Amino acid sequence: MRSTDVVIIGAGAAGLMCALTAAARGRHVLLIDHSNKAGKKILMSGGGRCNFTNMYTDPANFFSQNPHFCKSALARYTPWDFIALVSKHGVPYHEKKLGQLFCDNKSKDILNMLLEECRRAGVELHLNTTVHQIEKTEAGYLLSTDLGPIASPSLVIATGGLSIPTLGATGFGYEIARQFGHTVLATRAGLVPFTTDGRLKELCTELSGTSVACQVSCNGQSFRESILFTHRGLSGPAILQISSFWRPGDAVEINLLPDDDALEWLQGQQSARPNSELKTLLGEVFTKKMATLLADSWFASKPLKQYTPAELRDIAGKLGAWQVVPAGTEGYRTAEVTLGGVDTRDISSKTMESRKSPGLYFIGEVLDVTGHLGGFNFQWAWASGYAAAQFV
Ligand SMILES: Cc1cc2nc3c(=O)[nH]c(=O)nc-3n(C[C@H](O)[C@H](O)[C@H](O)COP(=O)(O)OP(=O)(O)OC[C@H]3O[C@@H](n4cnc5c(N)ncnc54)[C@H](O)[C@@H]3O)c2cc1C
Repeated sequence: MRSTDVVIIGAGAAGLMCALTAAARGRHVLLIDHSNKAGKKILMSGGGRCNFTNMYTDPANFFSQNPHFCKSALARYTPWDFIALVSKHGVPYHEKKLGQLFCDNKSKDILNMLLEECRRAGVELHLNTTVHQIEKTEAGYLLSTDLGPIASPSLVIATGGLSIPTLGATGFGYEIARQFGHTVLATRAGLVPFTTDGRLKELCTELSGTSVACQVSCNGQSFRESILFTHRGLSGPAILQISSFWRPGDAVEINLLPDDDALEWLQGQQSARPNSELKTLLGEVFTKKMATLLADSWFASKPLKQYTPAELRDIAGKLGAWQVVPAGTEGYRTAEVTLGGVDTRDISSKTMESRKSPGLYFIGEVLDVTGHLGGFNFQWAWASGYAAAQFV
C-alpha cells in the first residue's frame, strides 16, 4: 500500500495550486485526476487566454450563503501574489478591462507554469486515475484507487463544480462531502447564457452575432457591459453576470441606452430633427438591422414629429427598460460556474479543513463560493488552494 502526506483529488486550478504550495513546504503530495489532462478548464478559460485574476478582487465579488467565509483566504493570497508567480515565469499578460488580467498568448502559459511549479516541488501527478472509495481510518484516509490503496493523513477535495461535464466535471466532491456528514447546498448553473422562446427567440435569432453595450438588471443587481444576441437567446458578459442572480420566471431589465435618459433623449431628438424616421435615429445608435427590427416590431417607424407624448414615453420605456423573460439557461452544458455546493459553515475559513472530519479539506469551486465574471473564480481557486496547502 502507498502512503503519502497529502492526497489531492482534482488537478484543476485549486488542486494544482494546493499541490505546488504544499510540496514546496516539503510535503509529499499525490495529485490525482480522472481526466487525461490536468487543468482542462484553465485551457478553455477566457476564450483561450485565461482571465487568471482580477486586480480588484474583493469579497463582494463572490456569492455564498456565508459571505464572510472567503475573506480570510482572499486576504492571505491576493491577486498580487499570483501576478508575482506569473511574472516569475515571464508569462506575458495585460489588463483587458475592469481589472481583468488575461494572457497575451494562450491559457496554456498558465497551465504550464503551474505544472512546472508542481514538477520542481516534486508533486506526483496521476492522470486517468479513478478514486473508487474513501474510508476514514485512525491515521487519516484510505483511498481505493486505480493505483491501488493509498493512505494519507490529509485528503483535499478539489474536484470543482458541475459545469461542463465534457471537461471532466462530476458531482464527486459533493458525494464525498455528504459521506462525511456535510451539507451540500442546492446547486445551479451560473455565468450562463439565457435561452428564449416565442417572439423573443425570433428576434434573438435574427440579430444573432450582434453585440450592444447595455445595462442589465435583475433582483436588485445591475451590470454595465455588452449583451450578445445568439441563435439560442442572449449571452455576452452582462447576461452571464446577471444569470447568476436570475431565477426561473424572473424578468431581466435591459437598458439599451445606458448613457442617456431615454425619454429626454427622444424628446430632444424630436425637437431637433422632427422629420427623421425613428428607425433612422436608432440606426445611428445600434446596427441598421437592429434598428429596423426594433422599430418594426415595437413601434412602427414613422417621422419623429408624428409620435404623441404618450407614444414617445412608451418607446422610451422599451429602450430604457426592456423587460425580457428568459425561457431558461443553457444549464451546466455551457455554464462557466456552479452556484451552491459544500456548505462553508462546516469548513474552517482559515484552513479549509472540515469541522466534521479532521484531515479532510475542500477547496475551489466545490465549495459554496462563486465569483462574478472577470477572473474572480480563478482567484478563489488560487487563494483557497494556497490556504489549505499551509495546513495539510
Ligand atoms: C469555459 C469556461 C471558461 C472559464 N473562464 C474563466 C476565466 O477566464 N476566469 C476565471 O476566473 N474563471 C473562469 N472559469 C471558471 C473557472 O474555470 C473555475 O471556477 C475553476 O476552474 C475552478 O477551479 P477548481 O480547481 O475548483 O475546479 P476545476 O478547475 O474544474 O478542476 C476540477 C478537477 O477535478 C477533476 N475531477 C472531477 N471529478 C473527479 C473525480 N471524480 N475524480 C478525479 N478527478 C475529478 C476534473 O477533471 C478537474 O481537473 C471558466 C470556466 C469555464 C467552464
